[in-house]
Amino acid sequence: MALITYLTKIQFEAGARALLKDELDALGCKAPLIVADKGIVAAGLVAEVLKAGGLSADTPVYDGTPENPTEAAVHEALDLYRAHDCDGIVGLGGGSPLDLAKAVSLMATHDGALADYAVILGGLGRIRKDKPPVVAIPTTAGTGSEVGRAALLTLEDGRKLGFISPYMIPDVAICDPELTVGLPPMLTAATGMDALTHCIETYLSPRYNPPAEAIALDGLHRVARNIREATRNGSDMDARTEMMMGALQGGMTFQKGLGAVHSLSHPLGALKHLRLHHGTLNAVLLPAVLAFNAEGASDAAAAKYVALAGILGAARPADLPATIEALNRDLGMPSNLTEMGVPADVFDGVADNAVLDHSTATNARPIEKADFVAILNAAL
Ligand SMILES: [Zn+2]
Repeated sequence: MALITYLTKIQFEAGARALLKDELDALGCKAPLIVADKGIVAAGLVAEVLKAGGLSADTPVYDGTPENPTEAAVHEALDLYRAHDCDGIVGLGGGSPLDLAKAVSLMATHDGALADYAVILGGLGRIRKDKPPVVAIPTTAGTGSEVGRAALLTLEDGRKLGFISPYMIPDVAICDPELTVGLPPMLTAATGMDALTHCIETYLSPRYNPPAEAIALDGLHRVARNIREATRNGSDMDARTEMMMGALQGGMTFQKGLGAVHSLSHPLGALKHLRLHHGTLNAVLLPAVLAFNAEGASDAAAAKYVALAGILGAARPADLPATIEALNRDLGMPSNLTEMGVPADVFDGVADNAVLDHSTATNARPIEKADFVAILNAAL
């Protein structure tokens, strides 16, 4: 049995931000809260989207989204939402503001603690449809959160958990590649490697969903062909447009589930004292996970490695890890966890949390704690 769903209304074109008010009107939203972060405000993107999108310059803005969104930030933004009698949320930014916007919508109508709605704590069945509408406007080409059913949030106790439900998917995604033109090269590369990892991990997931696999391969193709140019020349609109589409496609395939790269980057990203970037973590972990998944691969998985090698330009499937390492070098990504400042003494705890992560069940092959520790050591 396969559950295959595509739900989000997507407006995709350069200049699509001009459609914001029309889309909010169509959703019956008269008083939106903008959820962003300080970098997005400083870059002038909030002011630009309000103006081009036909909204008042007085529209309330929550700009406190942290790099990895937290339970405390959900409550702060929710206080602002209530203080202004808002009736909908516009998430504007990278994955963090978009995930926070989804969580604010959830907690606007759902009682109890945020943790009650975490997927590994049985939250899927508790998340209902009656939530204020969410419009997602990405300013990076990476997370795919604008069409994804998950929000990743770090709870007060330090756990980074997934909040997942079809009702968490934004009602509308406005994908405007012009909003990514100012993204600096390192963030372009890191968020792009997140998108590339989504396409690879969802493609390798053993769940049956051929449409999602086709979308993942097409997205991978676009990202692989354009990530170097988008990083090198940020004003190349063709490259920016292709990267935004590739990231969107990566997000559309989340329904197939991710894999061990994300099982590890979620708990590593929750280490507050290190403040590690999600996409950079994925870039660094991907070669070691590809090598692990290739061992003892089923015939079906081996055939998928052939397809990946063809798209990524690897001479043989066995060269895929080295191909990703070379791409990371070209993009100026760190080459290992040590360069990112990750000490080996966190591995045991990270591996414990990776086993529990919602992405682990859909890794290309079964994986246990000792395997996670070995992958972390290989990436050290
Ligand atoms: Zn990701």
